[in-house]
Amino acid sequence: MYKIISLVGRTILLSSLLLLSILGANGQKKINVLIIDGQNNHKNWPQTTQLMKGYLEETGLFKVSVATTPPQGGDMEAFKPDFSAYKVVLSNYNGDSWSKATQDAFEKFVRNGGGFVVVHAADNAFPEWEAYNKMIGVGGWGDRNEKSGPYVYYDEEKHNFVHDTSAGRGGSHGVEHQFLIKARNTTHPITKGLPEAWLHEKDELYDRLRGPAENVEVLATAYSDKEKRGSGRNEPMLMTIAYGKGKVFHTTLGHGNYSQQCKGFITTLQRGTEWVATGKVKQTVPKDFPTADAVSVRTN
Ligand code: ZN
Repeated sequence: MYKIISLVGRTILLSSLLLLSILGANGQKKINVLIIDGQNNHKNWPQTTQLMKGYLEETGLFKVSVATTPPQGGDMEAFKPDFSAYKVVLSNYNGDSWSKATQDAFEKFVRNGGGFVVVHAADNAFPEWEAYNKMIGVGGWGDRNEKSGPYVYYDEEKHNFVHDTSAGRGGSHGVEHQFLIKARNTTHPITKGLPEAWLHEKDELYDRLRGPAENVEVLATAYSDKEKRGSGRNEPMLMTIAYGKGKVFHTTLGHGNYSQQCKGFITTLQRGTEWVATGKVKQTVPKDFPTADAVSVRTN
């Protein structure tokens, strides 16, 4: 008798655990996210993938898988994830071109309503891939120039965004430092409830990005100080882009592990990922979010 009860008990326990791993704590089905990595000019990519996987999973909203491409120069034909199994793809990838079939499958995934999260050097990738550049809005390096599209920056005096078609390189950054991020849209689900300005932990401040810049909404900017070898402009840091039925969240932040441990990076990544998946953000803003005067950084 005891054996039967114990067996039934164990079965119930196991089923509950299985259910909890599929469903979030609130009983809702978890959102499947695929992180793509495998090549990057940032050698810490295996670590940032694990950091971001952890940040997303700790919300209880996401189930995160990782697809790692072959190394540089490897057989990219072998890289063909089944995008249709996911609601969101997060790119931590900057490397060799994907096969035409994988590019087409990814473009179709986003166009048909998939969510896409672009992190830091992922906006350096694929300068020649037209649809990818439309998805990321603006990008840098890879010989991007005026042919790639305009620069996008915020004019603080006119209170509007400028699309500047003047000639010049796309993508640069000065020395790493802590810098102030200013929300330019405080009613968007991703930024609603965040302070209007917060200090970001040491990072590269990407400047002079350029690209098709169609259907881009810049949510937050940072001033790229010429004294730090920057552009002297208010550069886009957090953006959303509409691509077909798909939603894209683009954060230019996240160079070092320390940059990604900033609670501002973590919170906006979590919120941006929820938004591209559902169009809403139900997460609350943590009490220890950075302020305009002080950074707030994960130490564990
Ligand atoms: Zn970097």
